[in-house]
Amino acid sequence: MSTKLDLKKVRSQLMAGRKELLAKLEEKDRDARGENPGRGDLAYDYTNRDRVTALRSVEEQTLEQIDAALERLDAGTYGICSHCGKPINEERMEALPYATLCMECTNQQA
Ligand SMILES: [Zn+2]
Repeated sequence: MSTKLDLKKVRSQLMAGRKELLAKLEEKDRDARGENPGRGDLAYDYTNRDRVTALRSVEEQTLEQIDAALERLDAGTYGICSHCGKPINEERMEALPYATLCMECTNQQA
């Protein structure tokens, strides 16, 4: 069950992606506060908040996936399909460093 992936490189990529996402989330927090029109326009306020929340959840999900990938790196299970237990194609891992499923299992789920 060996992999040709450069795990050190993968880790630094994941860490960089993580940092980038955290910066984006912080920026969104600032935007959300800056865009807040204050009292009197609650409808707008709610819509705006929903939009920000929706955008953030995607990034937070990605952040969770990156954290999970880092955990798998530590546990030595990185690059192993969480469904069938087979090694995930290296090209796939390079394209999607936090993938948890191999191509086959992804296709089966779709
Ligand atoms: Zn699989």
